Amino acid sequence: MGDFTAFIKGLENKKVLGINPPVFDFAFFDFWAKPLGLLYILEYLRRRGNTVNLIDCIYEGRDKPKSYGRYKPKRREIGKPLPYKAIPRRFYHFGMTKEELEERLSAIEPPDIILITSGMTYWYLGVKWCIEIVKGIFPDVPLLLGGIYAQLCPDHAQGLGADGVQTTPLGVPFFRPALDLYDAPEYGITITSIGCPLNCKYCASKRLWPKYRKRNVDEVIDEISFQAGMRSVGDIAFYDDALLLDKERHFYPLCDELKKRHGHLRYHTPNGLHVREIDEVCARYLYETGFKTIRLSLESTDPSIQKAGSDKVHDDQYIRAVENLLKAGYTHEDIETYILVGLPGQKYEAVERAILFVKSLGATVKLAEYSPIPGTPMFDECAKIFPLLKEDPLYQNNTAYCGYMTPDITQINLQRLKNLAKIKIRDGVKASIRRDDPPLI
Ligand code: SF4
Repeated sequence: MGDFTAFIKGLENKKVLGINPPVFDFAFFDFWAKPLGLLYILEYLRRRGNTVNLIDCIYEGRDKPKSYGRYKPKRREIGKPLPYKAIPRRFYHFGMTKEELEERLSAIEPPDIILITSGMTYWYLGVKWCIEIVKGIFPDVPLLLGGIYAQLCPDHAQGLGADGVQTTPLGVPFFRPALDLYDAPEYGITITSIGCPLNCKYCASKRLWPKYRKRNVDEVIDEISFQAGMRSVGDIAFYDDALLLDKERHFYPLCDELKKRHGHLRYHTPNGLHVREIDEVCARYLYETGFKTIRLSLESTDPSIQKAGSDKVHDDQYIRAVENLLKAGYTHEDIETYILVGLPGQKYEAVERAILFVKSLGATVKLAEYSPIPGTPMFDECAKIFPLLKEDPLYQNNTAYCGYMTPDITQINLQRLKNLAKIKIRDGVKASIRRDDPPLI
C-alpha cells in the first residue's frame, strides 16, 4: 500500500505535470469523462505555490464534436492483447498518438514531479504505454501513479514502472477542479458528495471512498461558478454516486443557487440517480434547474438482483419516478434508465423483463454491461468461477468477461438484448424478439 499524501502536501514551488493517459479498449464513449481527482489535486498544488501543467491524452486527442460539449476521441486500431485474441471485435487506442505525446512532452519545461491518473482497471495498458513514453523523455523525474485502477489493483499497478503508487484516497482538500488548464473546455465537472452510504455487491464506491460525505453547498457553487466563468463552458456534469440523498438540505439549496446564477447552463448526471428520491418536488427541481441528461439506476426488476443492489429501488418506486419526471416536463426519451446485464448467473429472461418493463412505461433503456470490480463482494464470487480475473485486470473488461459468468447471455443473446433496448416499443414487439429468433443486427 502506498500513501503519498504527506509528500504531496509538502510540495512547494515545484513544477508539477498531471497526465490523463489514453484508453486502449474495444470502445470508448465520453460520458463527460475528465480526470476529476487529478484536477482537484492540481488545483490544490497550485494554491500551495506550485506551477501546474496538464496533458489530457483523451481531450487533446479529440476528433469530432458530440452533443453537450463532448467529443469523440481519435482512435486507431491496434493489436489485441492475448486475453482478447479470441474476441471477434476490433481493439483501439483512443486519444493522443505516441508522436503527439512525445512532441507535447518535449515542448514543456521539465517538471519536478509527474502525476499520472488511471481509470478502469482494464485500461492499464494505456497507463503503461504512457509511463513508458514519459519515462523515455524524463527518466529522472519522480512519477506517481494514482486513480481508480491504482486503488483497485494496487499490487498489479506496482508493476507498471511508476516510482510510487497511490493506493488509498489522497487526503488533500478539494477546492475546485483546475479546469482552466484545458484549452477551451466545453463542459465543466463537479461532485457534491464523496462516495455512497449504500453498499451494492457489484459497486466499487465503498472501496474507493470508504467514508460518505457531503461537500459544503457554497464550495460547490463556487467551483461551478468558476467553471461557468469560462466562456467556452455550456454544460456541467455531476460525478456524484448519491446526488439526491438528503436532497432537502443539499441538492435543493444547490439547485436554487444554480437557477439564480447559472440558469443558462445545462446539467448532466452520467452516474445513476437514486430512483426512490424522485418525488414530484425533486423531479421539478431537476427539470427547472436544467438537468438535461438524467439516468435512473433501476438496474433490474429481478428481486434477487435488487437485493444485491441494496434494495435501493423497487418497481413501484420506478413507476412513480417516471410519472413525476413526465409531469415535471421531461419526455419519455429523456428518462434514461440503467439496466445491468451480465451479472453472474443472470438469466436472459430477467434482463428481457427489465427492458420490457422500462419500455412499457415509455422510458429509454441504457444497458450497462457488468464488469467485475476488485474489492467488491461480487468480484470474489466471480473469481471463484473464473480465477483469471485475479491474474490480469484485462479479464475484468465487460467485453471479455460477460460470456464466462453468464452462460445464458451469449454474444448473440447479448446482441438481441441490445436490439430490444434500442427499438421503439409497439404492440407485438415482445413476440418479435425472443431468445430463439435470429438477432436483428
Ligand atoms: S447505490 Fe449506486 S453508488 Fe451506491 S453502492 Fe449502490 S451502485 Fe454504488
